[in-house]
Amino acid sequence: MPAFDKPPPEKMMFQLNLRRRGISDQGVLHAMEVVPRDVFVAPADRKDAYCDAALGIACGQTISQPFVVAYMTEQLQVRPEHRVLEIGTGSGYQAAILSKLCGKVLTIERFRTLADSARKRLAELHCDNVEVMLGDGFDIPAGAGDFDRVIVTAAMVEIPHALTGRLEPGGILIAPVGPHNGTQTLIRIVRTNTGLERKALVDVRFVPALPGIAREL
Ligand code: SAH
Repeated sequence: MPAFDKPPPEKMMFQLNLRRRGISDQGVLHAMEVVPRDVFVAPADRKDAYCDAALGIACGQTISQPFVVAYMTEQLQVRPEHRVLEIGTGSGYQAAILSKLCGKVLTIERFRTLADSARKRLAELHCDNVEVMLGDGFDIPAGAGDFDRVIVTAAMVEIPHALTGRLEPGGILIAPVGPHNGTQTLIRIVRTNTGLERKALVDVRFVPALPGIAREL
């Protein structure tokens, strides 16, 4: 490969850091490699797009830390035939990563500004299997159906039964659970033949999941 075709050093460090921190799923690593995070951050933050840090986006929200995105995606064990629900579109970055690994993504966001800009970005990147919906993740329309995988990217004090009820048999849900102003724990729920299996993974910090579509834009 000619030298000028090599990925920039910060992108190489980005991949190296994910591997060093234990991400080993090749599909997840590939998705993290091909989705340009710089497109999803505020213009002033482009230089920091490949640092392993959460960054502020519009409406006082955040784009998650890349390691956490990769970790949650790996734990979700997404396959090409899956239909995935994301609650908390934010920038659309996590949805773009999922779009490379599964059949369809429905992602829900309560801020119109964020939903509109994520939809535009995802269209520009040809993530055609992602639908962005303005809505409330606590009140998902019945017509949206059930899902093989559910990923919540905003902190919930508890996981509502309405949400676990949307899991197909064998389905997996991952959500940060805990107080809004503190540390949460990533919880992984699997729908088995006999019920729901719950496991605590790692501690994380997410912005809160709030009920209702936001009144402000
Ligand atoms: N996954 C995002 C980051 C999520 S930040 C990314 O990749 O950029 C959490 C997002 O959840 C915020 O945009 C917030 O507005 C949204 N959110 C919070 N409560 C919600 C709810 N009840 N329904 C839908 N979205 C919600």
